Amino acid sequence: MIRSEFKNVLVVVAHPDDAELGAGGSIARWVEDGAVVRTVVCTNGDKGTKDGLSPLALAQIREKEQLAASKALGVRETLFLRHRDGELEDERAFRHQIAFLIRHFKPDTVVTHDPWRPHYQHPDHQAVGHAAFKGVIYARDDNFLPELGCAGIRAHHTNTLLYTNALAPDFFVDIEAVFRKKIRAIGCHKSQIRTLRVTERRVRQRSEETGRAAGLRLAEGFTIARMR
Ligand SMILES: [Zn+2]
Repeated sequence: MIRSEFKNVLVVVAHPDDAELGAGGSIARWVEDGAVVRTVVCTNGDKGTKDGLSPLALAQIREKEQLAASKALGVRETLFLRHRDGELEDERAFRHQIAFLIRHFKPDTVVTHDPWRPHYQHPDHQAVGHAAFKGVIYARDDNFLPELGCAGIRAHHTNTLLYTNALAPDFFVDIEAVFRKKIRAIGCHKSQIRTLRVTERRVRQRSEETGRAAGLRLAEGFTIARMR
């Protein structure tokens, strides 16, 4: 039997705009279906180039853009861990941060980057994917992080993990009805977009390609792991 999933969703991503690009349509769908969705952005995004801006100024702009994008999708809360962009490592303290958030928010589903994509991917995506997976494991057993248990923050079992940008997705979400919403949310990341129309064309093309594998017009694809 599949226990609850997609009702309380924690999206853990590396950069501002990753959630919208990888899962924006699915987030909109889940929210419309009554889910609570929260987004955790792990870096401050200060390497996402913008001519003439200091990294600090860029990071501040990108947080505002992320909040606007989250609002456009109906995300309940957005948390910024503010690690340095491009320098994330899958190390213990980072995993603990994620495990703490999982125990606190008690998601039935965690969405994160696929860390096993071969040959090419952003190193932050890899670090976040690995740390989020391990965070799920650390969160689900009271013998991990006993100091949290002492503080009354008890273990929480996450039922489902979804990995974005998977090479061979095996779980699809129909995003045709919410495609405009996804594009509006992506459009909030103004510092990252030169022409929204070009971005929209690219996103549409990708959604069509993904959809073809599932018999849908527009879809987002994930690799799904159900945790027994
Ligand atoms: Zn990214």
